[in-house]
Amino acid sequence: MPTDRAADLATALAGVRAFVLDADGVLMYRGGPIPGSVAALETLRARGIPYRVVTNYSATHRDSLAKLFARATGLPAEPERIITAASAAAAYTARRHPGARLFVLASADAIREWAGQDTLTADQADADDASVAAVVIGDAGDDLSFRNLDIAFRHLRAGAEFIAMHRNPWWVTRRGPTLDAGSVVAGLEFALGRRATVCGKPSPVVFREAVAELRRDVAAAGGPALRAREVVMVGDDPRADVAAACRAGLRGILVLTGKVTANEAHAASSRVRMDAIAASLGEVVAALPR
Ligand SMILES: [Mg+2]
Repeated sequence: MPTDRAADLATALAGVRAFVLDADGVLMYRGGPIPGSVAALETLRARGIPYRVVTNYSATHRDSLAKLFARATGLPAEPERIITAASAAAAYTARRHPGARLFVLASADAIREWAGQDTLTADQADADDASVAAVVIGDAGDDLSFRNLDIAFRHLRAGAEFIAMHRNPWWVTRRGPTLDAGSVVAGLEFALGRRATVCGKPSPVVFREAVAELRRDVAAAGGPALRAREVVMVGDDPRADVAAACRAGLRGILVLTGKVTANEAHAASSRVRMDAIAASLGEVVAALPR
């Protein structure tokens, strides 16, 4: 019932000080802006409420993604407010393997996320005496070749940490359903008999990175320390966005502007964790306490 939903939403937002937003199905859909999303972002900015846009899209650097995003939607988009599965993986290797050599399979644009870290080319990683601390498998397109995957496999067999940007099996491009890098990750996991550490959604790695960045924003503005429970994730995927954020200690609100209908959302709410369901991001931001 609408009144219950409004009450749930008010409860879910009490004490919220920062937002994590999914992109597709929350801000944009089929390449265009979702009604009310531009105004919602402008309200967050006007009220000084920090946010990060978290997406598993990882074929480009955040600079390129912000430009694409702004052009397609007219939405305000600074690269510093975006976290992709690629940027989360780069932040993870910087923290876990500072100064160490890495073998990263990513697009030429996305690998710029590793600027300042020691990434080897395939030829360097293929040298007899090469050793790497971690292997990262991402959206490298044709560079996910047999040769490159075999080089990755040998380093992983030798003990390098196995990191995946995400495990998405396929996605939809202009050509229709298209194979995604998660299928390659699953193949390597099968060959190795061990699982990769995933950095994108639904992994807690990407939510921890978002909370860490939001904490820096809050600290820079002179606010009291931000707790994960004071951050709400707004997403259109009940499991990969909302329940995953709740598992990482954030709150989660499911919106109906993307993957699920109202009936599907209510069915999902009895199976997975979520704090509230809302029609759209616009409704969520409008319900924020003054
Ligand atoms: Mg989505």
